[in-house]
Amino acid sequence: MKAAMTALRSDTPAKSSYDVIIIGGAMLGSATAWFLAQNADFNGSVLVIERDPSYAWAATSHTNSCIRQQFSNPLNVQISQFGAEFVQNLPRYMGAASGAPSLKIQNFGYMYLADSPAFAEVLRASHAVQAAAGSATRLLTADQIKAEYPFYNTDDLILGSINTVNEGYFDGITVFDQFRRGARAGGVEYLANEVIALTKNAAGTRVESVTLKSGEVIACGQIVNASGTRGAMTAEWQGSASRLPRASALLGCLAPRPRSTAHCR
Ligand SMILES: Cc1cc2nc3c(=O)[nH]c(=O)nc-3n(C[C@H](O)[C@H](O)[C@H](O)COP(=O)(O)OP(=O)(O)OC[C@H]3O[C@@H](n4cnc5c(N)ncnc54)[C@H](O)[C@@H]3O)c2cc1C
Repeated sequence: MKAAMTALRSDTPAKSSYDVIIIGGAMLGSATAWFLAQNADFNGSVLVIERDPSYAWAATSHTNSCIRQQFSNPLNVQISQFGAEFVQNLPRYMGAASGAPSLKIQNFGYMYLADSPAFAEVLRASHAVQAAAGSATRLLTADQIKAEYPFYNTDDLILGSINTVNEGYFDGITVFDQFRRGARAGGVEYLANEVIALTKNAAGTRVESVTLKSGEVIACGQIVNASGTRGAMTAEWQGSASRLPRASALLGCLAPRPRSTAHCR
Protein backbone atom coordinates (compact mmCIF):
# COMPACT_ATOMS: atom_id res chain seq x y z
CA MET A 1 0.00 0.00 0.00
CA LYS A 2 2.72 2.48 0.87
CA ALA A 3 4.20 2.12 -2.58
CA ALA A 4 5.24 4.94 -4.84
CA MET A 5 2.66 7.48 -5.99
CA THR A 6 0.33 5.93 -8.53
CA ALA A 7 -0.83 7.67 -11.66
CA LEU A 8 -3.38 10.39 -11.00
CA ARG A 9 -6.09 8.39 -12.72
CA SER A 10 -6.74 6.12 -15.65
CA ASP A 11 -9.79 4.60 -17.26
CA THR A 12 -8.50 1.04 -17.27
CA PRO A 13 -7.59 -0.79 -14.06
CA ALA A 14 -3.97 -1.81 -13.48
CA LYS A 15 -5.03 -5.18 -12.06
CA SER A 16 -7.90 -7.64 -12.46
CA SER A 17 -8.49 -8.02 -8.72
CA TYR A 18 -8.39 -5.73 -5.63
CA ASP A 19 -8.91 -6.33 -1.95
CA VAL A 20 -11.21 -3.32 -1.69
CA ILE A 21 -13.13 -1.55 -4.44
CA ILE A 22 -14.73 1.78 -3.55
CA ILE A 23 -17.57 2.92 -5.80
CA GLY A 24 -17.47 6.73 -5.87
CA GLY A 25 -14.38 8.86 -5.22
CA ALA A 26 -15.91 11.97 -3.66
CA MET A 27 -15.67 12.94 0.03
CA LEU A 28 -16.69 9.65 1.60
CA GLY A 29 -15.06 7.38 -0.99
CA SER A 30 -11.76 9.26 -0.80
CA ALA A 31 -11.92 9.46 2.99
CA THR A 32 -12.41 5.69 3.15
CA ALA A 33 -9.49 5.21 0.74
CA TRP A 34 -7.25 7.50 2.81
CA PHE A 35 -8.06 5.82 6.12
CA LEU A 36 -7.30 2.42 4.57
CA ALA A 37 -4.08 3.67 2.96
CA GLN A 38 -2.66 5.11 6.18
CA ASN A 39 -3.70 2.15 8.36
CA ALA A 40 -0.54 0.23 9.24
CA ASP A 41 -2.61 -2.91 9.91
CA PHE A 42 -4.03 -2.92 6.38
CA ASN A 43 -1.82 -4.09 3.57
CA GLY A 44 -4.39 -4.68 0.83
CA SER A 45 -4.95 -3.14 -2.58
CA VAL A 46 -7.58 -0.43 -3.02
CA LEU A 47 -9.28 0.76 -6.19
CA VAL A 48 -11.54 3.83 -6.26
CA ILE A 49 -13.88 3.96 -9.26
CA GLU A 50 -15.32 7.40 -10.07
CA ARG A 51 -17.69 7.95 -12.99
CA ASP A 52 -17.13 11.74 -13.07
CA PRO A 53 -13.64 12.85 -12.00
CA SER A 54 -14.73 16.50 -12.39
CA TYR A 55 -17.07 15.86 -9.42
CA ALA A 56 -19.34 18.50 -10.96
CA TRP A 57 -22.53 16.81 -9.75
CA ALA A 58 -21.22 15.22 -6.59
CA ALA A 59 -22.85 16.49 -3.39
CA THR A 60 -19.28 17.00 -2.16
CA SER A 61 -18.83 19.87 -4.64
CA HIS A 62 -21.98 21.62 -3.45
CA THR A 63 -21.83 21.22 0.30
CA ASN A 64 -21.82 24.16 2.68
CA SER A 65 -19.22 22.21 4.70
CA CYS A 66 -20.95 22.82 7.98
CA ILE A 67 -20.35 20.60 10.97
CA ARG A 68 -22.39 20.43 14.15
CA GLN A 69 -22.29 18.70 17.49
CA GLN A 70 -26.05 18.75 18.04
CA PHE A 71 -27.38 15.22 17.64
CA SER A 72 -29.70 13.05 19.70
CA ASN A 73 -27.50 9.95 19.40
CA PRO A 74 -24.22 9.85 21.37
CA LEU A 75 -22.44 8.00 18.56
CA ASN A 76 -23.22 10.82 16.14
CA VAL A 77 -21.90 13.35 18.65
CA GLN A 78 -18.67 11.38 19.00
CA ILE A 79 -18.29 11.08 15.22
CA SER A 80 -18.73 14.83 14.91
CA GLN A 81 -16.26 15.51 17.72
CA PHE A 82 -13.70 13.41 15.90
CA GLY A 83 -14.54 15.24 12.66
CA ALA A 84 -13.90 18.62 14.30
CA GLU A 85 -10.66 17.39 15.80
CA PHE A 86 -9.57 15.99 12.43
CA VAL A 87 -10.37 19.16 10.47
CA GLN A 88 -8.50 21.36 12.93
CA ASN A 89 -5.44 19.12 12.99
CA LEU A 90 -5.18 18.37 9.28
CA PRO A 91 -1.37 18.78 8.97
CA ARG A 92 -0.83 16.32 11.82
CA TYR A 93 -3.17 13.72 10.31
CA MET A 94 -1.92 14.15 6.74
CA GLY A 95 1.76 14.34 7.62
CA ALA A 96 4.35 17.07 7.14
CA ALA A 97 5.10 16.07 3.55
CA SER A 98 1.48 16.56 2.52
CA GLY A 99 1.62 20.33 2.68
CA ALA A 100 -1.85 20.26 4.25
CA PRO A 101 -2.83 23.70 5.56
CA SER A 102 -4.13 24.42 9.05
CA LEU A 103 -7.89 24.84 8.97
CA LYS A 104 -10.30 26.47 11.37
CA ILE A 105 -13.98 25.96 11.99
CA GLN A 106 -15.89 29.24 11.85
CA ASN A 107 -17.91 28.68 15.01
CA PHE A 108 -21.21 30.37 14.28
CA GLY A 109 -23.19 27.40 15.58
CA TYR A 110 -26.56 25.99 14.55
CA MET A 111 -29.51 27.50 16.40
CA TYR A 112 -32.40 25.09 16.89
CA LEU A 113 -35.63 26.81 17.94
CA ALA A 114 -38.61 25.28 19.73
CA ASP A 115 -42.03 26.89 19.45
CA SER A 116 -43.87 24.04 21.20
CA PRO A 117 -43.44 22.32 24.57
CA ALA A 118 -42.98 18.99 22.80
CA PHE A 119 -40.06 20.22 20.71
CA ALA A 120 -38.58 22.03 23.72
CA GLU A 121 -38.51 18.61 25.43
CA VAL A 122 -36.70 17.16 22.42
CA LEU A 123 -34.08 19.91 22.67
CA ARG A 124 -33.66 19.29 26.41
CA ALA A 125 -33.26 15.53 25.89
CA SER A 126 -30.75 16.05 23.08
CA HIS A 127 -28.88 18.61 25.17
CA ALA A 128 -28.47 16.00 27.91
CA VAL A 129 -27.00 13.53 25.40
CA GLN A 130 -24.61 16.16 24.03
CA ALA A 131 -23.55 17.39 27.47
CA ALA A 132 -22.84 13.82 28.57
CA ALA A 133 -20.60 13.44 25.52
CA GLY A 134 -18.72 16.61 26.44
CA SER A 135 -20.19 19.01 23.89
CA ALA A 136 -20.70 22.66 24.74
CA THR A 137 -24.33 22.99 23.61
CA ARG A 138 -26.29 25.67 25.48
CA LEU A 139 -30.05 25.90 26.00
CA LEU A 140 -31.38 29.44 25.77
CA THR A 141 -34.69 30.89 26.90
CA ALA A 142 -36.49 33.27 24.57
CA ASP A 143 -35.14 36.23 26.56
CA GLN A 144 -31.59 34.92 26.32
CA ILE A 145 -31.99 34.44 22.57
CA LYS A 146 -33.26 38.01 22.24
CA ALA A 147 -30.30 39.35 24.23
CA GLU A 148 -27.67 37.46 22.21
CA TYR A 149 -29.40 37.60 18.81
CA PRO A 150 -31.51 40.79 18.77
CA PHE A 151 -32.51 40.30 15.13
CA TYR A 152 -34.65 37.24 16.03
CA ASN A 153 -38.38 37.58 16.54
CA THR A 154 -38.73 35.52 19.71
CA ASP A 155 -42.48 36.06 20.26
CA ASP A 156 -43.46 32.43 19.68
CA LEU A 157 -40.27 30.81 20.97
CA ILE A 158 -40.01 28.63 24.07
CA LEU A 159 -36.43 27.43 23.89
CA GLY A 160 -33.33 27.53 21.72
CA SER A 161 -30.27 25.31 21.48
CA ILE A 162 -26.91 26.38 20.10
CA ASN A 163 -23.29 25.31 20.23
CA THR A 164 -20.51 27.69 19.26
CA VAL A 165 -17.66 25.27 19.90
CA ASN A 166 -16.70 23.05 16.94
CA GLU A 167 -19.93 23.92 15.18
CA GLY A 168 -19.97 26.01 12.03
CA TYR A 169 -18.37 25.84 8.58
CA PHE A 170 -14.89 25.00 7.35
CA ASP A 171 -13.01 24.53 4.09
CA GLY A 172 -14.36 21.10 3.18
CA ILE A 173 -12.97 21.08 -0.34
CA THR A 174 -9.43 21.30 1.03
CA VAL A 175 -10.13 18.31 3.27
CA PHE A 176 -11.49 16.43 0.23
CA ASP A 177 -8.40 17.36 -1.80
CA GLN A 178 -6.14 16.14 1.00
CA PHE A 179 -7.99 12.83 1.22
CA ARG A 180 -7.54 12.25 -2.52
CA ARG A 181 -3.89 13.27 -2.59
CA GLY A 182 -3.11 11.27 0.54
CA ALA A 183 -4.91 8.19 -0.73
CA ARG A 184 -3.00 8.26 -4.01
CA ALA A 185 0.29 8.85 -2.23
CA GLY A 186 -0.51 5.80 -0.10
CA GLY A 187 -0.91 3.61 -3.19
CA VAL A 188 -4.66 3.80 -3.86
CA GLU A 189 -5.52 3.60 -7.55
CA TYR A 190 -8.21 5.94 -8.96
CA LEU A 191 -10.11 4.86 -12.05
CA ALA A 192 -12.23 7.15 -14.21
CA ASN A 193 -15.00 4.72 -15.06
CA GLU A 194 -18.50 3.73 -13.99
CA VAL A 195 -19.64 0.63 -12.15
CA ILE A 196 -22.76 -0.66 -13.92
CA ALA A 197 -23.27 -4.03 -12.20
CA LEU A 198 -22.25 -6.11 -9.20
CA THR A 199 -21.94 -9.89 -9.26
CA LYS A 200 -22.22 -12.11 -6.21
CA ASN A 201 -20.49 -15.41 -5.51
CA ALA A 202 -22.28 -18.71 -6.14
CA ALA A 203 -23.59 -18.85 -2.58
CA GLY A 204 -25.00 -15.34 -2.98
CA THR A 205 -23.37 -14.21 0.23
CA ARG A 206 -21.00 -11.52 -1.01
CA VAL A 207 -20.16 -9.37 -4.00
CA GLU A 208 -17.17 -10.85 -5.79
CA SER A 209 -16.82 -8.56 -8.80
CA VAL A 210 -17.90 -5.29 -10.38
CA THR A 211 -18.59 -4.67 -14.05
CA LEU A 212 -17.41 -1.41 -15.57
CA LYS A 213 -19.17 0.60 -18.25
CA SER A 214 -16.15 -0.07 -20.47
CA GLY A 215 -16.80 -3.81 -20.16
CA GLU A 216 -14.06 -5.01 -17.79
CA VAL A 217 -14.99 -7.21 -14.83
CA ILE A 218 -12.83 -6.63 -11.72
CA ALA A 219 -12.76 -9.05 -8.80
CA CYS A 220 -12.89 -7.71 -5.25
CA GLY A 221 -12.63 -8.79 -1.64
CA GLN A 222 -14.93 -6.06 -0.35
CA ILE A 223 -16.99 -3.32 -1.93
CA VAL A 224 -17.58 0.08 -0.36
CA ASN A 225 -20.68 1.85 -1.59
CA ALA A 226 -19.70 5.52 -1.61
CA SER A 227 -21.86 6.46 -4.56
CA GLY A 228 -23.70 9.23 -2.70
CA THR A 229 -27.16 9.98 -4.00
CA ARG A 230 -26.90 6.93 -6.26
CA GLY A 231 -26.14 4.79 -3.22
CA ALA A 232 -29.55 3.15 -2.97
CA MET A 233 -29.44 2.18 -6.64
CA THR A 234 -25.93 0.77 -6.25
CA ALA A 235 -27.10 -1.26 -3.25
CA GLU A 236 -30.03 -2.67 -5.22
CA TRP A 237 -27.63 -4.13 -7.79
CA GLN A 238 -26.45 -6.63 -5.21
CA GLY A 239 -30.00 -7.79 -4.57
CA SER A 240 -30.54 -6.21 -1.17
CA ALA A 241 -34.01 -4.77 -1.05
CA SER A 242 -33.08 -2.66 1.94
CA ARG A 243 -31.36 0.68 1.56
CA LEU A 244 -27.83 0.41 2.79
CA PRO A 245 -26.49 3.52 4.48
CA ARG A 246 -24.46 5.78 2.25
CA ALA A 247 -20.75 5.17 2.35
CA SER A 248 -18.88 2.87 4.66
CA ALA A 249 -21.43 0.20 3.70
CA LEU A 250 -19.51 -2.94 2.90
CA LEU A 251 -21.72 -4.61 0.37
CA GLY A 252 -20.18 -7.96 1.24
CA CYS A 253 -22.02 -7.69 4.56
CA LEU A 254 -25.68 -8.08 3.75
CA ALA A 255 -27.06 -6.83 7.06
CA PRO A 256 -27.47 -3.06 6.91
CA ARG A 257 -26.28 -1.05 9.88
CA PRO A 258 -28.85 1.01 11.76
CA ARG A 259 -29.64 4.25 9.98
CA SER A 260 -28.83 6.21 13.10
CA THR A 261 -25.15 5.37 12.72
CA ALA A 262 -25.01 7.28 9.47
CA HIS A 263 -27.59 10.01 9.76
CA CYS A 264 -28.64 12.59 12.24
CA ARG A 265 -32.10 12.68 13.75
C1 LIG B 1 -26.37 21.90 -1.34
C2 LIG B 1 -25.79 20.95 -0.33
C3 LIG B 1 -25.35 21.42 0.89
C4 LIG B 1 -24.83 20.53 1.84
N1 LIG B 1 -24.36 21.03 3.04
C5 LIG B 1 -23.82 20.18 3.94
C6 LIG B 1 -23.28 20.66 5.15
O1 LIG B 1 -23.27 21.85 5.39
N2 LIG B 1 -22.72 19.77 6.02
C7 LIG B 1 -22.71 18.42 5.74
O2 LIG B 1 -22.20 17.65 6.59
N3 LIG B 1 -23.21 17.93 4.61
C8 LIG B 1 -23.76 18.77 3.69
N4 LIG B 1 -24.26 18.29 2.54
C9 LIG B 1 -24.20 16.85 2.33
C10 LIG B 1 -22.78 16.44 1.89
O3 LIG B 1 -22.38 17.25 0.82
C11 LIG B 1 -22.83 14.99 1.47
O4 LIG B 1 -23.33 14.18 2.53
C12 LIG B 1 -21.45 14.45 1.10
O5 LIG B 1 -20.75 15.33 0.24
C13 LIG B 1 -21.67 13.12 0.44
O6 LIG B 1 -20.43 12.67 -0.02
P1 LIG B 1 -20.40 11.29 -0.77
O7 LIG B 1 -18.97 11.04 -1.13
O8 LIG B 1 -21.14 10.27 -0.01
O9 LIG B 1 -21.32 11.51 -2.07
P2 LIG B 1 -21.11 12.44 -3.38
O10 LIG B 1 -20.37 13.67 -3.08
O11 LIG B 1 -22.45 12.58 -4.03
O12 LIG B 1 -20.21 11.52 -4.28
C14 LIG B 1 -20.66 10.30 -4.84
C15 LIG B 1 -19.71 10.01 -5.97
O13 LIG B 1 -20.01 8.72 -6.47
C16 LIG B 1 -19.88 8.75 -7.87
N5 LIG B 1 -20.66 7.61 -8.39
C17 LIG B 1 -22.00 7.40 -8.21
N6 LIG B 1 -22.36 6.23 -8.77
C18 LIG B 1 -21.22 5.71 -9.34
C19 LIG B 1 -20.96 4.51 -10.08
N7 LIG B 1 -21.93 3.62 -10.36
N8 LIG B 1 -19.70 4.28 -10.51
C20 LIG B 1 -18.69 5.18 -10.20
N9 LIG B 1 -18.90 6.33 -9.53
C21 LIG B 1 -20.15 6.57 -9.08
C22 LIG B 1 -20.45 10.11 -8.26
O14 LIG B 1 -20.02 10.53 -9.56
C23 LIG B 1 -19.91 10.99 -7.14
O15 LIG B 1 -18.68 11.60 -7.45
C24 LIG B 1 -24.77 19.15 1.56
C25 LIG B 1 -25.20 18.67 0.31
C26 LIG B 1 -25.70 19.56 -0.63
C27 LIG B 1 -26.15 19.02 -1.97
